[in-house]
Amino acid sequence: MRVLVVEDEHKIANSIKKGLEQESYAVDAAFDGEYGFDLASTEEYDVIILDVMLPKMDGVELCNKLRGKNIHTPILILTAKGELDDKVNGLNAGADDYLIKPFAFAELIARIKALTRRPKQAQRTTLKVADLTLDTLSFQVKRGSTEIGLSKKEFGLLEFLMRNQGKILTKDQITNNVWDYDADILPNTVEVYIGYLRKKIDRQFIGKPRLVHTVRGFGYKIS
Ligand code: CA
Repeated sequence: MRVLVVEDEHKIANSIKKGLEQESYAVDAAFDGEYGFDLASTEEYDVIILDVMLPKMDGVELCNKLRGKNIHTPILILTAKGELDDKVNGLNAGADDYLIKPFAFAELIARIKALTRRPKQAQRTTLKVADLTLDTLSFQVKRGSTEIGLSKKEFGLLEFLMRNQGKILTKDQITNNVWDYDADILPNTVEVYIGYLRKKIDRQFIGKPRLVHTVRGFGYKIS
């Protein structure tokens, strides 16, 4: 899952970024409205967290402009206490939810999970491919009854593959959905991580079918 945080208070933006990364989200941060709009309209995100009072372009205008461009990424507006009008404006501008600052981090996570669950194919929290299961709430991954320990990035990659099981995913699709914008990505980063996953979910289970496949010249898939 990839999240964009648009917030000019660096301290808040960075603490949201850090906290979400702990939960295995890939997070980009923008500190002004214009840059936020550039990222939101060119990159793919699962959720956008948007402050209202921002330099260069405020959150309500940003939200309006995105919806005007037919970009329907779920948006969670952050608004300071006493800015109730902004809240109403934000929702009128096409935001999906709002949270009043200061907020508890657990509340933010709960709202984000609700927003990412809501759209498209009503995202499931337990994913399954053959005897491989992944639980996005407990971060548990198992093959049969054997638990598999994954790093946060490996988990993010496996979740993306499993949500798209059977589909061939290109390297670009994978990097755009699993890594954040400023991540140091080398040409072979995806291959390297696919290699880690293979080792953990396929190679150590001798006699079981291989689940991670390379489709030469196209990309990767799990099935
Ligand atoms: Ca602000």
